[in-house]
Amino acid sequence: METWQKILQASVTSPGALLRRYGIDPAPLEAVVERYPMRVNPYYLGLIHAVGDPIWRQAIPSALEIEDHVCCADPLAEEEQSPVANLVHRYPDRVLFMVCSECAMYCRFCTRKRKVGGEHMRVTRETIAAGIDYIRANPQIRDVILSGGDPLLLGDENLEEILEQLRRIPSVEIIRIGSRVPVVLPQRITTNLVRLLRRYHPLYLNTHFNHPDEITPTSAKACARLADAGIPLGNQTVLMRGINDDPRVMKRLMQKLLAIRVRPYYIYQADLVQGTEHFRTTVEEGLEVIKALRGHTSGLAVPAYVIDAPGGGGKIPLLPDYLQQLGDTVLLKNYRGDSYTYRNAQPDMEPLEDAMVRAV
Ligand SMILES: *Cc1c(COP(=O)(O)O)cnc(C)c1O
Ligand code: SF4
Repeated sequence: METWQKILQASVTSPGALLRRYGIDPAPLEAVVERYPMRVNPYYLGLIHAVGDPIWRQAIPSALEIEDHVCCADPLAEEEQSPVANLVHRYPDRVLFMVCSECAMYCRFCTRKRKVGGEHMRVTRETIAAGIDYIRANPQIRDVILSGGDPLLLGDENLEEILEQLRRIPSVEIIRIGSRVPVVLPQRITTNLVRLLRRYHPLYLNTHFNHPDEITPTSAKACARLADAGIPLGNQTVLMRGINDDPRVMKRLMQKLLAIRVRPYYIYQADLVQGTEHFRTTVEEGLEVIKALRGHTSGLAVPAYVIDAPGGGGKIPLLPDYLQQLGDTVLLKNYRGDSYTYRNAQPDMEPLEDAMVRAV
């Protein structure tokens, strides 16, 4: 069996290869990959059925990436909210810690397009040590999210060193890994890796499937290995035009995720990242996706739909209008659009103990 390193080495990293394989003109894409790197490994390339399909769009550069001036390289103000390099401290009790600058594929829609895979992102022994020192010095941090880049592109030894050091910090309760490796390079989920990871529980892993065609026997096996090691698996999907903005596609994706023991966690409204405008949908379309899920299929298949607020405000959940307040009743709408009322409790009720004494 081919090792994951060999598969990665065989990646397509320049548009020229697209001409040979698909007969498309690579010239307009040269300037794109100069700015935003390209890496598509043979496994993910093999999932493409046709030029322009949802797998293609996620992996193959488009000239639209350098024509868009919609907003910002860093709309979530991650750099401003980094007290040390590669560590974002936005919320009180948890941090996002970037420990690898590489990915198994450079997704065209990436929120960190400004830095991943390029020379702007420097992850070194020093930045990792500084991040760990920061976490140790701030005991309010009880949840550390390893991200990148993709932390699972680190070699086993480097990854273990980080996990070991984090586990030695008593205030760190849980460790999460954010990784697209189960989707784009599932061969990386080796028995050795899983044996290593399970020594650092409680450990969670959030992966990133965007389309049902990404769920293959190989990616299912990678997820099964992780789940068998007791690692709770979640999924974060980005809502994207022409990829998963059809509610039927999204529903199928969520259902298929549950079938491989991955619990849908978030659907993200696309961020205002420069170079990704062609992927964006409206918020209304996102709400329609949620409406098509809730009630129509397993509640477990319904993730939270969130916008990561521009400027660094964090994730804000969006819900269709199921609820209206009318005096002391609550007007509710179910998934079919039928109305129901619920009589609310009185907000100024006397304390329960007093009421019970009076009732005796
Ligand atoms: C998404 C994110 C988190 C984690 O958010 P949860 O809602 O707890 O999953 C933490 N820090 C940053 C900077 C994030 O972007
Ligand atoms: S794997 Fe994640 S971080 Fe890497 S390019 Fe894709 S979306 Fe961006």
